[in-house]
Amino acid sequence: MIERLDVFMAGANAAYYATRDPFADFTTSPEISQAFGEILGLWSAVVWRQMGEVSPVVFAEAGPGRGTLMADALRAIGKMVPGFRAALRLHLIETSPRLRALQAERLDATWHDDFSGIPDGPLLLLANEFFDALPIRQFIHRDAGWTERFVQDGCFVELPAPAPSRSGAVGELVETCEPALALAAALGRRLATSGGAALLLDYGPEHSAPGDSLQAVRDGRPADPLAEPGHADLTAHVDFQALAEAARAAGAAVHGPLPQGIFLARIGLFQRTGALARGQPPARAAAMMDAAQRLAEPDRMGRLFKALALCHPALPPPAGFEA
Ligand code: SAH
Repeated sequence: MIERLDVFMAGANAAYYATRDPFADFTTSPEISQAFGEILGLWSAVVWRQMGEVSPVVFAEAGPGRGTLMADALRAIGKMVPGFRAALRLHLIETSPRLRALQAERLDATWHDDFSGIPDGPLLLLANEFFDALPIRQFIHRDAGWTERFVQDGCFVELPAPAPSRSGAVGELVETCEPALALAAALGRRLATSGGAALLLDYGPEHSAPGDSLQAVRDGRPADPLAEPGHADLTAHVDFQALAEAARAAGAAVHGPLPQGIFLARIGLFQRTGALARGQPPARAAAMMDAAQRLAEPDRMGRLFKALALCHPALPPPAGFEA
């Protein structure tokens, strides 16, 4: 069997998320610190106020994993901004039946396979480490022209291809992620017509860059992305510049990308962590502070991860993105 890389990646990840516990292989920001989901929930509440406290409002998350981010967000929202808690209708985008069941233990929501199922109207959407799991294509600019990578028996093979939508010099490999661009465009259109904002947190460079970023993680360690499809989580760098352009072309205002560490510090990561740590035994308080630093320090998750906001053009720059 020979499969184009994006077809291979989509199949491998669908099998992976359907059958394995992803969080045995890797961890994510909401699993590292409860403050992450709490402050993203309050970020959403502030935008909701800027939207004129519209009710009802669709509150959505793409790829909620264990539901931890959303559970933490809703707890904070319920305490601090009960009007938003009452106005919001929770909608989750999740394809894995296994993860849907985990989410349903903690969240009262409506589930959808993709963004097209989300009902109309004003929208607030969060997505953490969702876009990096979407299937990519890889093209290589050879002397004789462009080729595209396919997967056959655990190895890459290259077939001649037309030039991809991204440019690259001879010798370079470039990646494209069509589902990510389509979702950014759909979000941009939706926000421009119905109002609201989306906050995307993921890892990747600020500007489109050539290079192979496909990676597999298994048991917390890098693995061969082509070996044993469905046994490892496959991800690639998110092209924030391309997402921003797609959303802007569809009518949305774009803010960022900002390094995650700067964004989280601006919206109160350390204040919230300090409040949580107060009164805890010293070892526990130190662990909570270290968890927050892991999310924010440049040489840990603070710089490679970025935050990008897509907004209705009439909204002010959202919290954390003010110049
Ligand atoms: N946001 C969570 C989980 C990240 S893992 C966290 O931060 O912990 C990626 C999530 O996206 C999982 O819930 C996975 O099942 C879901 N997912 C991956 N590809 C998807 C797709 N194409 N459509 C819908 N959900 C997808």
